[in-house]
Amino acid sequence: MSSLSSKILVINTGSSSLKFQLIEMYEERSIIRGTCERIGEEMGHIEYNKKGRIWNIDVPMADHRAAFAIIKKMLIEGETRGVKSLDEIAGIGHRAVQGGEKYVEATLVTQDVKDAITEMIPIAPIHNRATLSGFEAAEEAFGDLIPQVAVFDNAFHNTMKPEAYIYALPYEFYTDYKIRKYGYHGASHRYVTERLRELYPAYRRVISCHLGNGASLCAVLDGKCVDTTMGLTPLGGIMMGTRCGNIDPAIIPYLQNTTGMTADEIDYIMNNKSGLLGLSGVSSDLRDVEAAAAEGNYRAQIALDLFVYTAATYIAAVTVSLGGLDAIIFTAGIGENDPGMRKMICDRLKHFGVEIDDKINNEVRRRECSIASLDSKVGIFVIPTNEELVVARDTYKLIRSMKGDDLDD
Ligand code: AMP
Repeated sequence: MSSLSSKILVINTGSSSLKFQLIEMYEERSIIRGTCERIGEEMGHIEYNKKGRIWNIDVPMADHRAAFAIIKKMLIEGETRGVKSLDEIAGIGHRAVQGGEKYVEATLVTQDVKDAITEMIPIAPIHNRATLSGFEAAEEAFGDLIPQVAVFDNAFHNTMKPEAYIYALPYEFYTDYKIRKYGYHGASHRYVTERLRELYPAYRRVISCHLGNGASLCAVLDGKCVDTTMGLTPLGGIMMGTRCGNIDPAIIPYLQNTTGMTADEIDYIMNNKSGLLGLSGVSSDLRDVEAAAAEGNYRAQIALDLFVYTAATYIAAVTVSLGGLDAIIFTAGIGENDPGMRKMICDRLKHFGVEIDDKINNEVRRRECSIASLDSKVGIFVIPTNEELVVARDTYKLIRSMKGDDLDD
């Protein structure tokens, strides 16, 4: 048995939010999880969950530092306590979204890592600024006491070949400006495809469908990513809650020239006012769009149809990188909870031999299950995602190897 503590604190920093989870790694069991929201606003909110007991607290948090100070106090004091002292926490694992091509493995947070993330700010401004702010706030709260590790979301996509990640632009745009497809949702795609390999190792050619407010597909061959739909930024690929996904690039200069909108204004609309929301005019939440479509709202119906059509079309497209298709996985908010959407997508793929079992599919919400009919030539699965566990596993592995801890026990 190792002498190293087995608790890892996982941090996922957003621009005005901070998700945290304390995980006991021997059993991979979550001890504490929570979210700080409305950071930087007059009044913030913390939801803190200790083994099912929940605290909801309204408290101002001027910035991520203030949020971390509160989390630290709650972790070690009073009824909310999760550890007797901070040295019980073996490491802090940060989910870092965009580290460019340099970091393919989890890595200790050093000045080099911060510089690499800073360099990628123009490509992922909101995510990378938030990650840096999370590092600094955690350093201030926990000092040198606890090692900090960055686990990069785009690392899983680093195994793509150039044919899958290069855009047909002048090659110098790649070498000089780092313009390429990076891919996102890597921790989620990795978790669900690794889980399927544990359950059914015979499925070699797998497409993971992360369908949430953000949505992307990932083609995985023998456990390695060979293609994904998000691109230079998380705007690319399939249609999403508020993002448009891939569109004809000429639309952007056309809009600039005809309306006088700036590139930034168009970028904002493509990211925040498009997708399900922009098309339906109702909501970015699929449940609202489905309800409106059921009442005969034409725009909501178009939004729904396009969501199904683009998801199915891109599933078909990425089968090229796999040379066939053995299994499809549905995950994230929509993929885990919406049988209707799963069925509509699978029904558009019948020519690949994809056959869903309606009865089982209708019963499955947020739990691991095979939903393929016995006649289906392709496996179809619902696997709830667990991005935090991927970050915790990588963090723990790195820290154990740094400390010379026996990785086999
Ligand atoms: P995520 O980004 O993974 O949290 O997913 C959020 C999205 O999942 C929401 O915007 C909804 O569109 C969708 N969602 C969550 N629960 C359900 C549900 N029960 N039925 C349909 N869609 C759902």
